[in-house]
Amino acid sequence: MTGPLVAILSGAGISTESGIPDYRGPSGLWRRDPEAEKQVTYEYYMADPEIRRRSWQARREIWSLHAEPNAAHRAIADLDRSGVPVRVITQNVDGLHQQAGMPERKVLELHGTARSVVCTACGARTPLQDAFSRIEAGEPDPPCRDCGGILKTATVMFGEELDPAVLGQAAAIARACQVLVAVGTSLQVYPAAGLVALAADGGARLVIVNAEPTPYDDIADEVIREPIGTSLPLLLARL
Ligand code: ZN
Repeated sequence: MTGPLVAILSGAGISTESGIPDYRGPSGLWRRDPEAEKQVTYEYYMADPEIRRRSWQARREIWSLHAEPNAAHRAIADLDRSGVPVRVITQNVDGLHQQAGMPERKVLELHGTARSVVCTACGARTPLQDAFSRIEAGEPDPPCRDCGGILKTATVMFGEELDPAVLGQAAAIARACQVLVAVGTSLQVYPAAGLVALAADGGARLVIVNAEPTPYDDIADEVIREPIGTSLPLLLARL
């Protein structure tokens, strides 16, 4: 069975039911706490070892939540497995779409991933768990093993550019899709808002699943306010 290309644009709201708070959004935890925001702001992170130490500790606390995919993540992966072509464009860095069964190549992570670590000097990528092991063994700000450079999670920090290749692919999907489901995102910030506009201009059916109103509700074909974990599986079953 095949069907129309379905693009899922997901934001923090899809993962809050997995116990992950909204850190990055306009009213997210990082924006409300200037000290915490420094830990995810490139300029401060690179300049201050103490901020890096605290940033790693905060990452470990998030990781210790042991978040699991919820019914919404699973419903998206199930739709893909059923033969409907699905692409996920996500603002989240938690990797829960892939953990739910979406193939890596079908998930575009606009803000990178917290599951990998990258060297800011040589670009070497290593698993997050390696960094955590080194921190536990007494290196609170572990340097790159290859070149001694500063390590960070492979997330796009405040003050960093989004990956133009990822952005380009996301735009192409937005233009090509027949259905775009925006789920758990306020659609107030670039690039999410622009992707919705691209899809609408291309004639895609637009469905918005979000607890709060968004600037695109007026042009949406359908707006759903019910909790994502229950409403998204029902919606996707109709596709
Ligand atoms: Zn390096």
